[in-house]
Amino acid sequence: MPNTDPEKRRACQREYIRRNYERHLQHSRDAMRRWRKNNPQARAARDRAYKARHKEQVNASHVRHRKKHPEQRLAISRRRRARELGATGNYTVSEWLVLLEYYDQRCGYCGDGGRMQADHRVPLSRGGSHNITNIMPACGPCNRQKATMTDVEFRQRQTIVAVKRRKIIHRAAG
Ligand SMILES: [Zn+2]
Repeated sequence: MPNTDPEKRRACQREYIRRNYERHLQHSRDAMRRWRKNNPQARAARDRAYKARHKEQVNASHVRHRKKHPEQRLAISRRRRARELGATGNYTVSEWLVLLEYYDQRCGYCGDGGRMQADHRVPLSRGGSHNITNIMPACGPCNRQKATMTDVEFRQRQTIVAVKRRKIIHRAAG
């Protein structure tokens, strides 16, 4: 006999949910997924409303995500810059991490450690691509000194500077 007392009916439902918790959870999740799939516009509107209501939480979660994945963020801004300069090609975050590993997390020009920057061996401004084959991990000072030189030009200059330094030291030593 159906229960006509609303209080008792609700208690009965609660008891059912408690007893079939996992199944009930899965059932609700499936229902939500179906709803999102069938109501894309309603979903977008609801997401916007949620973001507006929870602005601070949403921002904080974005900040946390960015802090946790700095490489992804850097890769996106590098790619954007490359596109702006009309460069072809694209390298992935994992390719960059493998390259860093290959160079032992050190500058490909001077061998210093620390935080590496992605240097374009042939600069984008001189028609270099944004492929991993045109990328070299570089320390900040090397990247700044190299500026618009190619890697070959920069290495030649590094050699000249080293020879000059040796001469100066030699003369000082008398
Ligand atoms: Zn360096």
